[in-house]
Amino acid sequence: MNEAADSGGRDFIRQIVADDLASGRHARVVTRFPPEPNGFLHIGHAKSICLNFGIAAEFGGDCYLRLDDTNPVREDQEYVDAIIEGVHWLGFDWGPRLTHASDYFEALHDCAVQLIRAGKAYVDSLSAEQIREYRGTLTTPGRPSPDRERPVAENLELFRRMRAGEFADGQYVLRAKIDMAAPNINLRDPTLYRIRRASHQRTGDAWCIYPMYDFAHTISDALEGITHSICTLEFEDHRPLYEWLLDQLQLPARPRQYEFSRLNVAYTITSKRRLAELIELGLVGGWDDPRLPTILGMRRRGYPPEALREFCSRIGVTKKDHLIEMALLESCVRDDLNRRAPRAMAVLDPLKLVLVNYPQGQVETLPAANHPERPELGSRELPFGRELWIEREDFMEDPPKKFFRLRPGGEVRLRNAYIIRCEEVVKDAAGNITELRCSYDPATRSGSGPAAERKVKGTIHWVAAHAALAGELRLYDRLFTVERPDADPSGRDFREFINPSSLERRLGCMLEPALAAAVPGAWYQFERVGYFVADRVDSRPGQPVFNRVVGLRDSWAKAQA
Ligand code: ATP
Ligand code: MG
Repeated sequence: MNEAADSGGRDFIRQIVADDLASGRHARVVTRFPPEPNGFLHIGHAKSICLNFGIAAEFGGDCYLRLDDTNPVREDQEYVDAIIEGVHWLGFDWGPRLTHASDYFEALHDCAVQLIRAGKAYVDSLSAEQIREYRGTLTTPGRPSPDRERPVAENLELFRRMRAGEFADGQYVLRAKIDMAAPNINLRDPTLYRIRRASHQRTGDAWCIYPMYDFAHTISDALEGITHSICTLEFEDHRPLYEWLLDQLQLPARPRQYEFSRLNVAYTITSKRRLAELIELGLVGGWDDPRLPTILGMRRRGYPPEALREFCSRIGVTKKDHLIEMALLESCVRDDLNRRAPRAMAVLDPLKLVLVNYPQGQVETLPAANHPERPELGSRELPFGRELWIEREDFMEDPPKKFFRLRPGGEVRLRNAYIIRCEEVVKDAAGNITELRCSYDPATRSGSGPAAERKVKGTIHWVAAHAALAGELRLYDRLFTVERPDADPSGRDFREFINPSSLERRLGCMLEPALAAAVPGAWYQFERVGYFVADRVDSRPGQPVFNRVVGLRDSWAKAQA
């Protein structure tokens, strides 16, 4: 998966950067992450963020966070704020290098005038539809617009009037004059500016002409002195235009563009437009739905930013089209949370257990370490009493051979407590098990010396009924039922593949009482159940709601087997 091995542990882009620094081509590396603020960031962006900010950090350079805000109709300050917060959350800092393409509107306009003066751009009156038609196809060359040979003076005057707001939207555009027969369609006189009477979130109504992406992006890169302009493979065909613009214009730097393959993750989608559709149709709760691969969703789900960065480093950077398994991300999350998360006990599907020989009315507390390998995380006192909750699936009346949990007449250890024996199974009229009656062995209390550590095969978790806190646990499964929901071989729409059981809300789970104080965003390992995080939106003191971040083992592999 990670093809960095053949280049001494470096991916091909880092290798290029290292070579450029070694050869003196650049004294300092400068990169940028240039999101368009028309939606929220997702896991694919995380890959690009880790790559651009990571390279700057590793090679002692700078990385800009540049908001590519050239299309006011689709953009919003809410997205800008979330992008800034998301990049910070991932662990990166741009110092004073937070910029906007709109910072350069005046400079971009001057570049356009430069091109017109040089006879390299013209004002065209063809409609968008006509431009498309004149452009030709992959197999037929384009035709020149009747305006293509308009004299420079006339172009300058018309462009001035475009900016002055004298024309209607769509009446004119400014186009580069390159080659209508170029095999690469991006070079067939691409549009550089269009008229759009829309208020911009930063420049207000100062402009009614807005630059197109390729034009604005190339010049922004050059103005910021970007050395390595790193983007995804769909921009490969735009590189000749990028270079053409750099060739024509007087600019302070000459960046180079490099492309890598997008991150695609199995059983999910990473397209802002499609994510937006899921939300608009109410198929998920919002951009922060914990099932979504958005930064907001993954954060709420409880994926630590360190784990995401580790994931991005493990997947590597190549030009190949990969489908990455969610299991890889989950394994990074598990490794991280295993070290980080204090242990606690929670019962998902409670079954009552009564200790018949435990004195009526008596209670005690038992010490329990918060982390098996990290004594510095301290310990807590677990209430214990005659009535307990255990996990329903930890008892079987007629178990198979390898079942080491509780069975009639069998023994298990209650985690951090005593060894118990199942004496009697109580059922209701319909034959459902309603209660287990057990005896406990007072000499087997955990931690009270070697004699107490008598070995039994199974250990189960539990919560004392008199002190239990009822709470909601939310269990998540993959959001889609097929690997590539947006490119399924059946050709069916991605919305048809939503997994109907991707969210299971378990109310009435029984939790140890200390969890009443769980701070939103705090992680726990619920022993034997999985890693959980107190939900940052819905969890309240005394009324906790936990999201399952990830199970203790790779359940995906099991599900696929
Ligand atoms: P989407 O396709 O999801 O709408 P986008 O590419 O339009 O995303 P931008 O805001 O333009 O979103 O992306 C900012 C940067 O993130 C670009 O440099 C883009 O190449 C990169 N990026 C977007 N999606 C991915 C992905 N899946 N893997 C890696 N990089 C990505
Ligand atoms: Mg884009």
